[in-house]
Amino acid sequence: MNISKQKGTKDIYSDDILIWQFIEENIRKIAKKFNVGEIRTPVFEATELYMRGVGDETDIVSKEMYTFLDKGDRSITLRPELTAGVVRSYIENGMNSLPQPLKLWYIGNMYRYEKMQKGRYREFAQFGTEIFGSASYLADAETILVSSTLLKEIGLSDDIVLSINSIGCSECRKKYIGILREYLKPRIDNMCDSCKVRYNKNILRIIDCKEEKCNHELKDAPYITDNLCDDCKEDFSNLQNVLTNLKVEYVIDKKIVRGLDYYNKTVYEYISKDLGIAVGGGGRYDGLVSTLGGPNTPAVGFALGMDRLVLLLKEKNILEKIKNNVDIYFALFGDTAHLIGNNLMQTLRNEKNIYVIDGDISNKSPKAQLKYASSKNAKFVCIIGQDEIDKNICIIKNMETGIQENINLNSENIIKYIDNN
Ligand SMILES: [Zn+2]
Ligand SMILES: [Zn+2]
Repeated sequence: MNISKQKGTKDIYSDDILIWQFIEENIRKIAKKFNVGEIRTPVFEATELYMRGVGDETDIVSKEMYTFLDKGDRSITLRPELTAGVVRSYIENGMNSLPQPLKLWYIGNMYRYEKMQKGRYREFAQFGTEIFGSASYLADAETILVSSTLLKEIGLSDDIVLSINSIGCSECRKKYIGILREYLKPRIDNMCDSCKVRYNKNILRIIDCKEEKCNHELKDAPYITDNLCDDCKEDFSNLQNVLTNLKVEYVIDKKIVRGLDYYNKTVYEYISKDLGIAVGGGGRYDGLVSTLGGPNTPAVGFALGMDRLVLLLKEKNILEKIKNNVDIYFALFGDTAHLIGNNLMQTLRNEKNIYVIDGDISNKSPKAQLKYASSKNAKFVCIIGQDEIDKNICIIKNMETGIQENINLNSENIIKYIDNN
């Protein structure tokens, strides 16, 4: 019987893993540059954390979570997102007593029982950053800068649009919800079933409903962005000034409200021009730390979907640039050649740690070894057999030009030859 992988999961290897590593390396590099520290939290948490932290009326909590009772009868949930877990950890470990603002980044797998789409899996990975302890728009801007720097570094900034919006504070939102409710009252009967439920439970989310008939009813709907209080208005315009000053391109999209309940003020999304879907987003969530039992702490963060970034990079033929090509392949024939060859390979690896070095470990025929070397895009092949050992030489073949040369059999000569060619 063959056992296959679960629906919505994937194995990552070969060319794909190179793209993942490429993004991950850039994440680590950029996080370090911005002085953001890494945090790793558990893959499963108490179900209660997400009920309270994400909101039990959201699609994530009401429909998509992997929740089960463990053998001790505790209700456990595989994390459907990472912010709630990071906030739980912030509170539990008393991180508010560390110097603030505290900047943390994470990468990890998350789990949602979702309908499958392009670039969407049930086990998926996100990279995110959270900043705790700053109520300033400068912290909002910093999260945008970290994420947009990553997109630029991996070569995706031309393919992705940053859309920003403000959904106000609890005060202007309360006022706006009243206005929106009045506007929708005579129209809600013509709208989709989800919107009918949202009307009573999560009315803001009606604004970004994708249904045709809802769009039609929403044509003249008031936007929260046009109903902000003076403080929120100033905050939003300050943020825009910072972004403009930093030459971060953005558009204002009044329809962005984000799917999660905990956001306030700044919200943003990165939309792929090609796929027309969000590859990530973020926003401010000043109420979440206290909602989860911690001290009142302003916070802002974002998450980018790794799977979608990988998908976009794949379509850009990034592999040519990042493929791990072999610099020197050692084609070895016979036991003595293997002993000498192994020694040379180790010396070269130690002395020239930028070289990628590979060599025969299965006693293949000469033809098979050269074929393997060429499949690994080896630049040079160093051939050593008994004849070469007897003459104290090796043959170096430039795989691109086909030119072969005999050189003295020692590591210094090989390094000199490779460096000069
Ligand atoms: Zn406000
Ligand atoms: Zn709808």
